[in-house]
Amino acid sequence: MPETADVVIIGGGIIGASVAWSLARRQAGRIVVLEKEKYTGRGSTAYSAGGVREQFSSAINILMSHYSLDVYARFSREMDQDIDYKQAGYMFLASTKATAQALIQSVALQNRLGVDSCIITAAQAREHVRDLFVDDIQAAAYNARDGYVDPASICQGYVQRARDMGVEFRTSTTVTGINVQGDRVTGVITSDGQVGTDTVVNACGPYLREIGEMAGVDVPARPYRRMLFITEEFSLSPNLVPLTIDMTTGFYFRDEGRGLMIGLANAAEPSSFNTTLDWDYLPTILEHALHRIPTVEDAEIGKGWAGLYDITPDHHALLGAFPERPNFYLAGGFSGHGVMHAPAAACVISEIILDGVASTLDVTSLAPTRVREGRLLHEQNVI
Ligand SMILES: Cc1cc2nc3c(=O)[nH]c(=O)nc-3n(C[C@H](O)[C@H](O)[C@H](O)COP(=O)(O)OP(=O)(O)OC[C@H]3O[C@@H](n4cnc5c(N)ncnc54)[C@H](O)[C@@H]3O)c2cc1C
Repeated sequence: MPETADVVIIGGGIIGASVAWSLARRQAGRIVVLEKEKYTGRGSTAYSAGGVREQFSSAINILMSHYSLDVYARFSREMDQDIDYKQAGYMFLASTKATAQALIQSVALQNRLGVDSCIITAAQAREHVRDLFVDDIQAAAYNARDGYVDPASICQGYVQRARDMGVEFRTSTTVTGINVQGDRVTGVITSDGQVGTDTVVNACGPYLREIGEMAGVDVPARPYRRMLFITEEFSLSPNLVPLTIDMTTGFYFRDEGRGLMIGLANAAEPSSFNTTLDWDYLPTILEHALHRIPTVEDAEIGKGWAGLYDITPDHHALLGAFPERPNFYLAGGFSGHGVMHAPAAACVISEIILDGVASTLDVTSLAPTRVREGRLLHEQNVI
């Protein structure tokens, strides 16, 4: 008899693991997670900055984070796994009239949706980060509940608790094809044989599109390299520094150990699977860092790393199925927000699969069809 499962999840990162846990909790039957690496959580999840924030400009992103941060606040107690959730806050800095106005509008929306963010002055921003250059700052926004977590621990927490409920995580197993009959997927082909199923979840992060092609759907998400560098300890010697984002340039930083983590997306870089750390890009980041925190001049750069974002045209996730492949579900395209949105995404995807519709949050706006139908969302707080 060929092997079968009620649900096959492709990808054992934070999304695949959290979806597996959510489905198992709802007793969705035999669930198998297929992961090509030797261990779970070795994809983008391993390279994340771990930032979690409610400060977005679109209602659905705010609500996804609001739900997820509640889960992370209880995670160690309920999942028996410490996730090192540091509520250091997130701070957005606006140095133009337009960005200041946009910040004020998004904080108003966040407040209406139950988030305790607030607009602060340049002087108050400096209270959060000693040595911050604020002469050009017109407004800043701060939310104390934002902060950062350890994505690897979250992923492992979900994996362990899902295993406890019988989910099978099959590592070193690459999905190479997907069987389709009529409009439905009927199973997956792997490096280690086939698994028949009536439900497939594509949680492959940057490989979402490749796996989609195997099922005959055109997934509107592309991989992009993102790099982070870490300074050695230096005179700023921060204790807890909020994850601070310069909205005009996209430069961001937070504390990491006794130094700072600094990053800036290279907007000119095309989509690729390249994960090489480009030290030639460091001077560009440092230029922005020196402007915002002049004492960075004293800092040595110790290390850095590169990973992949899975980016959609409107920087919002893709959650759900295409009508032409109704039992092939996408949980991806998180555009740099997969760690902070994993609990909400897992919850709603399991509701869509088991109940036909999500009830915890209305995620119809995140349907994958929105891109080809031109119903793009807008999010300004993207880094
Ligand atoms: C530098 C950087 C900083 C980031 N900072 C943040 C942040 O501060 N906050 C935040 O929320 N997010 C952040 N992100 C984004 C976040 O890391 C991702 O959104 C999240 O990890 C996506 O999780 P995932 O499970 O979808 O993908 P992944 O972790 O990539 O998991 C997908 C899995 O699929 C597997 N796979 C792929 N192809 C196959 C196949 N054919 N067969 C079987 N398995 C396969 C991969 O091996 C991988 O393990 C950052 C990302 C990077 C790169």
